Amino acid sequence: MSADDEGGLRRQLVEACRWMNASGINQGTSGNISVRFGDRMLITPSGVPYDRMAARDIASMPVEGEYGTWEGPLKPSSEWRFHLDILRSRPEVGAVVHAHSTYATVLACTRREIPAVHYMIAAAGGPTIRCADFATFGTEQLSRNALAALEGRTCCLLANHGLIATGATLERAQWLAVEVETLAMQYHLSLAIGGPVILSEEEIAATIELFADHGQGGGAGNE
Ligand code: 13P
Ligand code: ZN
Repeated sequence: MSADDEGGLRRQLVEACRWMNASGINQGTSGNISVRFGDRMLITPSGVPYDRMAARDIASMPVEGEYGTWEGPLKPSSEWRFHLDILRSRPEVGAVVHAHSTYATVLACTRREIPAVHYMIAAAGGPTIRCADFATFGTEQLSRNALAALEGRTCCLLANHGLIATGATLERAQWLAVEVETLAMQYHLSLAIGGPVILSEEEIAATIELFADHGQGGGAGNE
């Protein structure tokens, strides 16, 4: 797929939504996904079952143009604010996945951040995956809270709600969403048998350095 193939990117977005539910990291019409396409953001429409969603249903919004304007047959996800605000403030981000995966959401319901229970936390860009303060879904306040939790990180939890994972590409953001859910499950299960031993900040910093060069280039997750 070429970088200027909007149709291909729209189809990839629909496929990613179906994968999100088939893989078990989301359910129903919860969650939403966006990708950067030049100076536009392509984002899933609000409340449409993924098996009925077509590529033409994906909404398009300007990243830097008039805030909140959109084009499409259906209105964009109710969470367009945090998707747009992330793309505006993080030029390295090309895609954002938001899901209500079970273990990440369970931890977020207890307002816990995920500590360094496993070295893969380095994929978050630091020694913790923070939990953003609670705000009603779809609000500016939720977007502000999410951006604060994402400071220096690639992902976060949303209190009593779910997770956000970002990536340079959609594949990378999907990969990270699975890693966040896996770390959440590992933390939950290790709490149940006496509590994990938490890795040091130095250990995570060293792992982040190694990740830059791991696998076939481009960092962990691309191998
Ligand atoms: P949308 O269907 O509007 O994208 O909402 C789903 C969701 O997860 C809200 O947080
Ligand atoms: Zn949600």
